[in-house]
This record gives sequence, C-alpha cells and structure tokens, in this order.
Amino acid sequence: MFVPGAPTASSRTRIDLGKGWMEEVSRGRLFPLYANRAVANVHVLLRMDKERKLIVAGNWKSNKTNSEAVALVTDLIRELAAVKEVDVVVCPAFTALSDVSKLILGSNIRLGAQNLSDSGYGAFTGEIAPGMLRELSVRYVILGHSERRQFQKESDALVAKKAANAHANNLIPIVCVGETLAEREANITEKVVESQTRGSLAGLTAEQVESTVLAYEPVWAIGTGKTATSAQAQEVHAFIRKVIVSMHGEAIARRVRIQYGGSVKGSNARELLQQPDIDGALVGGASLESKGFVEIIKNSI
Ligand code: PEP
Repeated sequence: MFVPGAPTASSRTRIDLGKGWMEEVSRGRLFPLYANRAVANVHVLLRMDKERKLIVAGNWKSNKTNSEAVALVTDLIRELAAVKEVDVVVCPAFTALSDVSKLILGSNIRLGAQNLSDSGYGAFTGEIAPGMLRELSVRYVILGHSERRQFQKESDALVAKKAANAHANNLIPIVCVGETLAEREANITEKVVESQTRGSLAGLTAEQVESTVLAYEPVWAIGTGKTATSAQAQEVHAFIRKVIVSMHGEAIARRVRIQYGGSVKGSNARELLQQPDIDGALVGGASLESKGFVEIIKNSI
C-alpha cells in the first residue's frame, strides 16, 4: 500500500534542499493506488525533523450544498496551487463528491469522504460502497468521528470493519479517536484513547496500519472553540504512537501519521503542528471558508 509521504521503496534518494526541507525521490515503483498508471518517479517533500508528510483535511460535515462546495473548492484550488509540503484533503458531503472530484482533477487537492459502508454493493439502504467512492477518485475516508460514535452509536468494532473495507479497496482511512471532557476529568484519557486505537485498528495488518491516518480529536475541543494546548495534544499523540509501537513495532509506528483535530484555526495551527508527534490537522469549522482553511495550511508549513 502506498503511504503518502513515506514510500517504502528501496530505491529512494533524499536530496537536502536546505532550510529544513528535503526532497525524496522514489524510483521505479508501481503504486497500487494508481493501479492503472506506472509511476516512474515520485517526488515528495519532507520536513527533515519528521519523516512523515503533514496532512491537513477539511471535514465539511453536513454543510455546503453542491454549488457551495464547488465555490469553496474553486477558491482552494487557486489559493493552494503552490503548496507541495502538505497533503491537502477536502471531505465534502456525499452529494458534492462528484462535482468536487471533477474540479480538483490535476490539482494538489485530494478528495475524502466522511463515511464508508462496512460492506460492498447490495441491499444496504443508505450506505455508500467503496466502489462508488473509488469511481470518483476519493482517496480518504473519515471513520469513527466522535459525532458518528455519539449519534450513530458506531463502535470500535464497526470502525475496524470499515477500516478493513477501506484498505481492501485502496481507500485510506482517517480513523478518529478521542476522549470526552468527563473522561479527561476522570483521568482516563489514555485508557480511552488506547482502547479506541486498539479496537478501531483491530484486524488490520501492519502494512495497513502504517498507511492509516489517525486523528486524535478530544471531543471537548470539537466545535467548542476550546483547543487542547500543544503540550496536551503532543502528550496524547506520543502516547498513541507508543500504543502503535506495542501493536506493530517501532518502524511502523514511526511512519503512521497522526492528525490533531479540535478547533484548529490559523492562529493555533503552527504551534500544534510543530509538535514532534503531530502530523497534520483534521479541521471542521475553520475548513468551511477558504480564508480560514488556507491560513491553517500556510501556517503549518
Ligand atoms: C472535527 O469535527 O473533526 C473538528 C475537528 O471540528 P472543529 O475543527 O470545528 O473543532
């Protein structure tokens, strides 16, 4: 499986570009995600202090009609055209995926969906099968968001089934974990986050875990304007990485990207994303306007 920003090919060369950046060129690999295209040389920009490329995703939730989504992504394509250092992902509602997909073709913006069925095609009213997303060039799927855990009662076991389905169909899951305020106050943040991480990744192979994106989203910070301090977030991110070490070893854990989510905005993005174990952001409210989202991405570079 292709891990964006972290190819595993042996034919890798790294070129020091100075100012804390290096370019990694992987040669002669056929990336499964682009199964119909042989990609000869893949150029990836890496920050020298992290071997993981930043990933910032906008979760538009149940917002934006199709025409509003088209307007927003049109702005983003223009504003973010020069950004190479960050994987930028937008996750519109299902109704806007088709038009957004056509617009971003050839741009540096990637497409994500906000959910995925745990099954394939068939008699599953209201569900979205992986093939439907693949046809629209969707790359990422957000799974186990706290809103789905809370309102749709999604369990870790269901999230794990969906994550396995995503991987089986060359979609990259963004798996969300995070504690509620009551759990933080009861000092059980680590217990909750460990059990969600283990449960939501259960059954995945080491290679699948390596290419999964995790999102640590303290529930008390989502949509509330309250952000975890960079120290609080870093502490939990480092802990999640330790959990992955215990599941699959150091090498895999070092490559897993862990986003932070919870009231991220332009003014706090830089400090959060500079933390050693924070590899990007999952952004709700501030991704609904191009100015706010662009500011987050530019401030994270
Ligand atoms: C989210 O819902 O994933 C999220 C992080 O929302 P917000 O940025 O609005 O807190």
